Amino acid sequence: MAEYENRCGTIEIRNIEPSDFAALGREHDLVVVAPGKRSFGEYFGERPDVSPYAKPQRHLAVGFWDGVEQTDPRAVTMSISPGHGELLDLPITTFDGWASALLCENVPGGDLEILMTQKESDDPDAYRQLLLDKLKVHHPTVYKRIDQSRFRLMRPGDILQGAVRPVIRDDYRLLDDGTVVLALGDAHSTVDPVTGQGANSASFEAQVVADAIIEDEIVDERFAKNVALRRRERVDGLSAWVNTMIATPTPPHLQKLLGAMSQMRTLCDEFTENFSHPHRNGDMVATPERVDAAIARHASLGAATASGKVA
Ligand SMILES: Cc1cc2nc3c(=O)[nH]c(=O)nc-3n(C[C@H](O)[C@H](O)[C@H](O)COP(=O)(O)OP(=O)(O)OC[C@H]3O[C@@H](n4cnc5c(N)ncnc54)[C@H](O)[C@@H]3O)c2cc1C
Repeated sequence: MAEYENRCGTIEIRNIEPSDFAALGREHDLVVVAPGKRSFGEYFGERPDVSPYAKPQRHLAVGFWDGVEQTDPRAVTMSISPGHGELLDLPITTFDGWASALLCENVPGGDLEILMTQKESDDPDAYRQLLLDKLKVHHPTVYKRIDQSRFRLMRPGDILQGAVRPVIRDDYRLLDDGTVVLALGDAHSTVDPVTGQGANSASFEAQVVADAIIEDEIVDERFAKNVALRRRERVDGLSAWVNTMIATPTPPHLQKLLGAMSQMRTLCDEFTENFSHPHRNGDMVATPERVDAAIARHASLGAATASGKVA
């Protein structure tokens, strides 16, 4: 923010509603709307072809916990309890040093859903014990790394319980005078956090808009369409990937891919590298045939490596 002001930008902190857009449009060439998922996302219409879910597919509980031994090397890990949900252990720096952000992605109606519905603030000790009990049964590899004498939230209140409905909204609207009002970040595309991509996607979108502003001379509907086209491959592909990850029951071809990854290092590496190109994972998991093709490609790579044909 300081850098923005150093470069002659002006920051004004106040509440904005859609009724303010016309006045903003008279002062500015472009109105970019990025109020996150809870706010006036409904100003932009939904794109039903890429928004398959009417409600959240995971009931979430995420806390910053002390007492979870970090992996060596320090890494994000994902544990899956079929039919009940995923647990992401994300190493994270906090005000008080390293912690584990344990993100419980619980299937609605499953045994772990209670981790969202039982409010931690009602009885923190009971919640801590509940979490330990559930981890022991459903996510034993993470449970094994917990030192129970230290296991507690880093600070009271370091926990979030709720749910996210994935949705992609229209890219823009035009005001009566032609001003472009552009949706950005969660207001444009909200994904479940199971693959930790929302903020990455929001910053990607911001870069696309910044580039377009620099390259184009005019901010009009053509500008808005260009922005929409440039970000669509990645945003839609990312969303398709995440929506497959949270499908219930887990599609057999995704199970097959996860199983194959546990046996094939190079396939696992490609999937992980694709966190920087998430639409490629959208392509990989789109159909059973695409999963088979990815597995076959890595199997032949492994065979070639074993026979010395690939250095
Ligand atoms: C549990 C969980 C874990 C996540 N983990 C990851 C992760 O590991 N990696 C990742 O990349 N993403 C992650 N995400 C997603 C990420 O948090 C969001 O995608 C990202 O914050 C979206 O950025 P944004 O700028 O669009 O919206 P936000 O970050 O929500 O910012 C919106 C801003 O607009 C302000 N605002 C809202 N309404 C108004 C109004 N009317 N007037 C003025 N201001 C307003 C808000 O106060 C806020 O400051 C996670 C999300 C959740 C829920």
